[in-house]
Amino acid sequence: MKIKKRPSMRTLMRHVEAGSDSGYCIRCWTLHHAIEPDAKAYTCSNCGAHAVYGCEELILMQEANEI
Ligand SMILES: [Zn+2]
Repeated sequence: MKIKKRPSMRTLMRHVEAGSDSGYCIRCWTLHHAIEPDAKAYTCSNCGAHAVYGCEELILMQEANEI
């Protein structure tokens, strides 16, 4: 399993603005597609953790310093 680079707040914002329906796994930071912006704890196909969140959700979590 490969750990990727954590996306910046700016990258997350760009995904939301583009309406790209993508999200990231907060364990390995793999980018996932077809993830609703408010998705929470989806299963990651890379690391198997229930840690995939939509970009909108990630921004909120980051603002709250939860990740
Ligand atoms: Zn993962």
